[in-house]
Amino acid sequence: MTRSRKSSGKATAKQNQQSIAQMQGVINELVNAVTNDMGRLNGIMYALLKDLDKLKEDNCPHCGQVLFEPQLDLLPPSTHCPSCGEALNTDEQKTIDDFVNWDEGKSSEEE
Ligand SMILES: [Zn+2]
Repeated sequence: MTRSRKSSGKATAKQNQQSIAQMQGVINELVNAVTNDMGRLNGIMYALLKDLDKLKEDNCPHCGQVLFEPQLDLLPPSTHCPSCGEALNTDEQKTIDDFVNWDEGKSSEEE
C-alpha cells in the first residue's frame, strides 16, 4: 500500500515522472508554436523587404552563408555573421569622424 505516501502528501516518483513528461510535452508544443510563428514572420518580412527592394543578398566571406541584410535607415547593418560569428565588412565604412568622436569621448572622460 501507498498509505504512508498518501498521508504525507508528497508525490511519488512515478507521479513526478508523469508531471515532468507532461511539462516536456507542453514545452515542446510551445517551442513548435514559436518556431512556426517565427518562420511565418520571417517569410513575411523577407517578402515585404524583397517587394520594397530593401533587401540585400550577400554571402559571408568567411563561411559562405547566404545573408539577407535589410536596407533600412533606422536599422544598423549587421556587424557579425549570424552563422559563423565572424566580423563582416559592411559597405558603410567607418568615417574618420567616427574615430575622432570615439577618441574625443574617451579622452574627455579621462580628463
Ligand atoms: Zn559566416
